[in-house]
Amino acid sequence: MPYVTRFAPSPTGPLHLGHAFSALTAYTRAREQNGRFLLRIEDGDTSRCRPEWEALIYADLRWLGISWPEPVLHITAREDIYASALKRLDELDLIYPCSCTRRDVMNALSAPQEGAPMGPDGVIYPGTCRSRAMASFRTGDAIRLDMAKSLAYLGDVSRFSWQETGPYETGTHRLDSAQLIHGVGDIVLARKELGTAAYHLSVVIDDAAQGITEAVRGADLMEATQIHRLLQALLDLPELAYHHHRLIRDENGKRLAKRTDAKAISKFREEGLTPEDVKALIGL
Ligand code: GLU
Repeated sequence: MPYVTRFAPSPTGPLHLGHAFSALTAYTRAREQNGRFLLRIEDGDTSRCRPEWEALIYADLRWLGISWPEPVLHITAREDIYASALKRLDELDLIYPCSCTRRDVMNALSAPQEGAPMGPDGVIYPGTCRSRAMASFRTGDAIRLDMAKSLAYLGDVSRFSWQETGPYETGTHRLDSAQLIHGVGDIVLARKELGTAAYHLSVVIDDAAQGITEAVRGADLMEATQIHRLLQALLDLPELAYHHHRLIRDENGKRLAKRTDAKAISKFREEGLTPEDVKALIGL
């Protein structure tokens, strides 16, 4: 199968050195394997995404020497597709609407003072709205996956595996039902309106639609991969390999965030650094 990978930034701020590392790693892997490198703009969060950030993404990537085929996939154009995946999960009776705020979730935890149990999707949901039927969905509700029902539907989930090709935890991984129940729980698949897919849902659908064979991304998403493999199994989407690379950190060892533009690629560009200088900064 020909190699296909992607870089999938959200245009919510300037790309920083961590994004440069991710995009260059994916681009290089695609070239080494005579494969394809695709770009996907994850602009689902319309309150935070801006066209000027998207324009800057293109400028930064071109400056780094990266090219991609047009048209670029925008996830805002795909709401009907996410809605039909939710419909399918609804027909299987695996999702439910949830009106809990963050505060409701914290209040419902049995011993919140001991620290909320965290999974790759945030606090593990205590299940307050689990008995609600989808027919009771109201605008403003989130939609959650019923993890226990999903596992019962799939049967022995250890048959769903994936390859990790990155430097950490390299090799074959398998779904583990105890881990999914206790360490992940009922994740959010959509927010507010049917079709406004949350990241975990859109990413698996879009990776399949773009024919991705290996997702290259930061090691912060390693733990989320089991969610993605589970959703692929539920939606009959093909398995892919994952390459989780090291994270680029600031001087204090903190992961770079878009909120601070201190390490923005555009800033280095304005300061007169060359793409080679930036590659050297991130150890490439
Ligand atoms: N939009 C996501 C991010 O910027 C992409 C994650 C992924 O590559 O799966 O973190």
